[in-house]
Amino acid sequence: MKTNLLQTVKRWLAGALALGSVSLLGADEAPAPLKPRPYPLETCLVSGEKLGRMGEPHVVVHADREFRLCCKGCEKDFRKDPATFVTKFDAAWKKVKPYPLKTCLVSGEELGSMGKPVGFVYQGQEVRLCCKGCRKDFDKDPKAFLKKLPTRPKAP
Ligand SMILES: [Zn+2]
Ligand SMILES: [Zn+2]
Repeated sequence: MKTNLLQTVKRWLAGALALGSVSLLGADEAPAPLKPRPYPLETCLVSGEKLGRMGEPHVVVHADREFRLCCKGCEKDFRKDPATFVTKFDAAWKKVKPYPLKTCLVSGEELGSMGKPVGFVYQGQEVRLCCKGCRKDFDKDPKAFLKKLPTRPKAP
């Protein structure tokens, strides 16, 4: 009986160790997702209108996701059926390339060292910066900063 129990424990330990190494690999790949998730699109999910055309986007945080809508009026439609928009949000997120670094793309500072990182999606690429000041620098020349991102080696 005792050996049986020992074997069970050993098997369980081996399983736990295997699981542990898998999650470690994952953690090395990319930082944990931001909460709330930044909005993945450049258009309003409600109206399809390009963001910015009607002034500053109207931001609604729902279910740990940040929705950027073209105007306040769209929030009413959003509230009628948020689940549909959460589904659309997640579908759009699947196409976003996750930010691969643990440091700010502009300053090189460790993310989190200046408080909550600033996260957003720029043309399908997630970007994380250490502070709002870096966002201003990024906006001056986004393409130059995106070039600094390491290109991921393709999985064998
Ligand atoms: Zn709108
Ligand atoms: Zn910064």
